[in-house]
Amino acid sequence: MRAAEIADQLTDVLVTEEEIQAKLEQLARQVEADYEGKDLLLVGVLKGAVMVMADFARSLKRPIEMDWMAVSSYGASTKSSGVVQIRKDLDTDISGKHVLIVEDIIDSGLTLSWLLENFASRGAASIEVLALLRKPEAAKVEIDCRYVGFDIPVEFVVGYGLDFAEKYRNLRDVAVLAPHVYA
Ligand code: 5GP
Ligand code: MG
Ligand code: MG
Repeated sequence: MRAAEIADQLTDVLVTEEEIQAKLEQLARQVEADYEGKDLLLVGVLKGAVMVMADFARSLKRPIEMDWMAVSSYGASTKSSGVVQIRKDLDTDISGKHVLIVEDIIDSGLTLSWLLENFASRGAASIEVLALLRKPEAAKVEIDCRYVGFDIPVEFVVGYGLDFAEKYRNLRDVAVLAPHVYA
């Protein structure tokens, strides 16, 4: 579904499908170079990162392992609570592994800072972050994110995996949700 098909619920398209794919290819080349000669475990954060993971993993011209973690900090609201709950833990023992966390978006940074600490305590060999989107002006904690797709303004966006109350994940573009939808 393209953003244009539900235009009355959106304001702007911030990032198009084509821009996302081009950026993921670019990031894939960087990751290939940075992890040359090393095993790599991609950990996707459910559910928002499903689309990024699917496309990014297939952009990589190298073997990888994949695992998933489900955490929640948002519920059906549009503001981060800072309270992180594990809903599904990793299946993999990450001790000694090179882990790349794949995320949809860094907003306050609270979820990722919690995840990074949690992963560090499990003894990973290295932990880096790839985030498709980042809102630099919304940061409450600084996240050292090695691979960033796009910096965007502080607005609530949906599409390409990102939801509002579980809707809009199947939009191909990333767009700003019209305030009348959640007001
Ligand atoms: P945090 O504020 O902890 O960095 O963000 C936590 C999670 O909230 C993100 O991983 C993402 O799932 C969700 N989130 C943050 N900003 C947005 C946004 O603009 N739109 C949507 N749909 N989800 C967001
Ligand atoms: Mg997320
Ligand atoms: Mg959500």
